[in-house]
Amino acid sequence: MRRLILSDIHANLEALEAVLNDAAGNWDEVVCCGDIVGYGASPVEVIQWTRRFADCLVRGNHDKACCGLLDMSDFNFPARASVLWTRSELPQSDLHWLKALPAGPVFRADYEVVHGTPVDEDEYAITADEVEPLDAHLLRTICFAGHSHIQGGWSWQRGGLIPISRPTLSETERVIDLDPEYLYFINPGSVGQPRDRDPRAAYALWDSTDHLLKFRRVKYDIRLAQARILEAGLPEVLAERLAAGR
Ligand code: ZN
Repeated sequence: MRRLILSDIHANLEALEAVLNDAAGNWDEVVCCGDIVGYGASPVEVIQWTRRFADCLVRGNHDKACCGLLDMSDFNFPARASVLWTRSELPQSDLHWLKALPAGPVFRADYEVVHGTPVDEDEYAITADEVEPLDAHLLRTICFAGHSHIQGGWSWQRGGLIPISRPTLSETERVIDLDPEYLYFINPGSVGQPRDRDPRAAYALWDSTDHLLKFRRVKYDIRLAQARILEAGLPEVLAERLAAGR
């Protein structure tokens, strides 16, 4: 089975379309690690695509905030402004759909999906110290996560916790041979608002038959996504950060 692994699309339709073009013909199913909306200017279109194509998905903190399930006291001003704007744009049916999204972890036969971690859907796991203790909570050999907007991963092997790196700025792909004997915690990166200093849209392809994982980066029309954010009256910083990739 070939799966397209997406996370943190954040209502960025231009980035999503570029990813889908890049990945065309290379997947049978879609996995989504949450934060479908928030920050970007195309929540209606991105939800429409996700409702139709995502086979396995969990909610993110922005999805929860936009449908009123999470209070916004932890959100900064631009995030709050985008939640309120998104809420006003979405039809009731989409708000109900967001409300009904499952909290992670969601389990399938050979993988699990979370937004933050298997312990707490809203928790960040970025450093080795944060990731290391999570193996005790994994019930599958591979766990896909989002939330940090940083592409990459970790593997618990005999020598300890091993980092798995993303493509460099001059590469478009990093291929990883997965050893079914080990545990993996994998973040496909953010489609719509990367924060790993690489502004290209991030995603992953996972072939569970060949045990191959590919981290990919793809250029998209950042200027158009920025123009649409400004046109919507969303805070300027949400447009600016797309070009910086942070
Ligand atoms: Zn996010």
